[in-house]
Amino acid sequence: MGEGRAALLELIENIERLGQFQDRLDFPSSVNQIWTAFLVDVQNLIEIEVCALFLVDDKSNEFVLKHTVPENSSRRCRDEIDLQIECGIFSWIVNRRQPALIPALAFEKTKSIVMLPLSTVKRTLGVVMIVTPIQESFITHENMKLLTMLTKECSLVMENTLLYERLRKEHLSLEKANKEIKLLSRTDSLTGCYNRGHLNELLPREIKRALRYKHSLALAMCDIDHFKNVNDTYGHQCGDEVLKIFVQSITDLIRADTDWVARYGGEEFMLVLPETKLDDACGLAERLRKHIAQKVIETEEDRVRITASFGVTGFDAATTSHRITPEALINTADKYLYEAKKQGRNRVVKGPISD
Ligand code: GH3
Ligand code: MG
Ligand code: MG
Repeated sequence: MGEGRAALLELIENIERLGQFQDRLDFPSSVNQIWTAFLVDVQNLIEIEVCALFLVDDKSNEFVLKHTVPENSSRRCRDEIDLQIECGIFSWIVNRRQPALIPALAFEKTKSIVMLPLSTVKRTLGVVMIVTPIQESFITHENMKLLTMLTKECSLVMENTLLYERLRKEHLSLEKANKEIKLLSRTDSLTGCYNRGHLNELLPREIKRALRYKHSLALAMCDIDHFKNVNDTYGHQCGDEVLKIFVQSITDLIRADTDWVARYGGEEFMLVLPETKLDDACGLAERLRKHIAQKVIETEEDRVRITASFGVTGFDAATTSHRITPEALINTADKYLYEAKKQGRNRVVKGPISD
């Protein structure tokens, strides 16, 4: 009577414990965490020699071995599973979603194997395989029931976790794709520098920042001289290559962390130079001009020489009394560029911002 009562109490305790399986895990949990918690409970219910977790791979639909205890037993677990698959026990489990108590095939004949399906109403997630030294006939019906209950609890948590992990992965790749789209939408596809849309979006912010911190800001508008001749002489494709190399040379010479280039039109580019005084911007434009003029641009088929003209302007927020707008800055730079062209090209013309 006393023994029976103790067994009943133990059973109730076990049932209660299994019901709290989920509570013992944090959310979001990982497959590892679930597996560790699951093993503790399994060991309370049955003597285990080897325990292995197989999960169904979403893509191949095959059972993949994820964990074994002890860790060095994976080879034999795989052998056992291969043999069991040959015997059809896996399809039996997948179809019926019922536990199975069977003789071991790859382990010593005295051992038995408990196969527990990890499944929910919707799908089969995997299988837990327990190799136990207890012979089949000594494993009680209650123990099998408790193991089944535990595996059901585990399946629910596992399904949520797998779903969460999948969504997280998808979310990350979506985020990456979005970033790439954003980057593409603000870059010029030929040269890789920013496009005019980005200039329109960012220049007002650069102006605001300069005004707020009382910094200077300069703009250099640059246009390749007689570029039409390049196309006419070497062909449009060569012209494209020249544009790419031209942008690369400019990008190499400006400050990578603050300065930036945008393609304003066909062979016209805008250099935005934050925290740069007009004279310094002019010095930079002069260096760029010289560099371009002495460079031989080597495309796949030709060696091309070009020159460029620059119109430079800017303001110092600490001293200016002008109302600074993006339009006023761009128009002024354009005006000086026009002046540079008029004076004979291959030169830099600078001046303060005007209305
Ligand atoms: P200027 O010194 O007065 O600037 O003379 P230009 O010939 O450079 O100026 P113009 O505006 O007459 O011609 C610009 C040329 O740039 C014509 C156009 O075909 C060429 N162009 C514009 N965009 C591209 C491009 O993406 N690729 C190529 N290959 N050529 C381009
Ligand atoms: Mg030109
Ligand atoms: Mg032009």
